[in-house]
Amino acid sequence: MALYTAYFMLNGQEGDASDESHEEPRKALELGRDEPLKALLIAQCPRIRDLKVVEQIRLVAFLSDFLNKGAVSTQGLQSLRSVAFGVPSGTWLDEEVIQSYRSARSFAHLLRLPNIEYIYFDQLRWIDEEEEEEVLIDWGDRLPPQSSSIQHIFLDSCNYVPKEFIDALTATPRELKRLSFRCRSRTVQRLENTDRIVSKLGEYNHSKSTMESLMFYNCCTANISGFLKGHRCTVYLPHELYLYDSLKDVQISCNDMAQAASHRWEDRKDKSQPKMSFWREYIAEWLPTTTQAFILWGGCYRWRWEGYFEDGQDYVTWVEDMVLALLTWRKKYTDLKAIFLEDVERAALLSRSGDPPFQKAVRLGKKFGVDVHTLTNRTKFQHEHHFPRAPDQYDLVTGSFGGKRPDNWVFDVYQGKTVPPGCAKCGNCEDCLELYPKRVWDSIGMEDDIEDDEFE
Ligand SMILES: [Zn+2]
Repeated sequence: MALYTAYFMLNGQEGDASDESHEEPRKALELGRDEPLKALLIAQCPRIRDLKVVEQIRLVAFLSDFLNKGAVSTQGLQSLRSVAFGVPSGTWLDEEVIQSYRSARSFAHLLRLPNIEYIYFDQLRWIDEEEEEEVLIDWGDRLPPQSSSIQHIFLDSCNYVPKEFIDALTATPRELKRLSFRCRSRTVQRLENTDRIVSKLGEYNHSKSTMESLMFYNCCTANISGFLKGHRCTVYLPHELYLYDSLKDVQISCNDMAQAASHRWEDRKDKSQPKMSFWREYIAEWLPTTTQAFILWGGCYRWRWEGYFEDGQDYVTWVEDMVLALLTWRKKYTDLKAIFLEDVERAALLSRSGDPPFQKAVRLGKKFGVDVHTLTNRTKFQHEHHFPRAPDQYDLVTGSFGGKRPDNWVFDVYQGKTVPPGCAKCGNCEDCLELYPKRVWDSIGMEDDIEDDEFE
């Protein structure tokens, strides 16, 4: 009973058990569930900085109750810097979680943690399943502009974000640096209006210059296609990045890039410039000069390119030409450290055969100190990146793996998580030989060093 009273005292109430708002916690306690007590413990822990939770969807609701009712001054809520709800455990619990949902209201409350920097949230949902209606949040009232210290947000399996939420994200944080979306489950619907997310955040960034990373994971060819949908584009068109003057990780769909480039070409009055050189220069119009990692994914719709290319050329030729140009603009892109092309290459394999593309880019990248990631490049990479990563079972100190991850795992920039290293492009196994024949693998890495004038 003492704990019961403590819960309500902390909740800004006097513990009057007849009060309607006590119904939920009282029911939980009477049924022997411990979420209200866990929430109480967390709120009182003086040095708790990092909280990772697997399956307790109700815990976030009780915790957010404290925040909603003004108990933010408790030591625990003051101390929290990082919270993650819906972390996969690698156990049967994950199956349970996937059937449930987490409330947008709880997420909004977490933004009110006074010193919060990082939130990972799985299955953000805007439909209240009990009420069967959309969760309405008065953002202006609950989260005034500039009121949140949040810097990094990672939204997993998020299938819909209302306009108001996008607007709040561009008003509430004082210093947002990283925003990531990921499709983790095949059951989720599509995340729409992605271009609006990008353009509104661009406006936000225009006055702040804080955005370093904007990622959409697991949408690439090898994983789940069709998860993202922009307005008249796949995710967003390159010009939406005009106002990002601090971005370090730039990820874009090859199709969107090609679509925008072809529109630009059509709009031109003077068409005397060769198309290839026009497209090559086009990238410099929108790619932020602060880019450190440039990640391309997907293929291009075939119809968009009919009649555009000379014999023997296709959009892969264009991408390669553009990448080569990017590598040579060293004065403009001084921060560039890596270009990721694996997914474009994988998509290209569906429609073309022959030797692997991007071999010239690999060699030029090596010369200029830029890592060019392709399906066959076995060069030891020179740079390490710290992309936004979703927490998983290996991060759970009290989980099956004791908070330890196998040392040799590598980060997959398309999936947003670390994965086993596999065969490390051995060139002999079934997977490798499915990509390219043995002859091709044997020839890779045997080429002479490039001549200085090869790319002039
Ligand atoms: Zn292999």
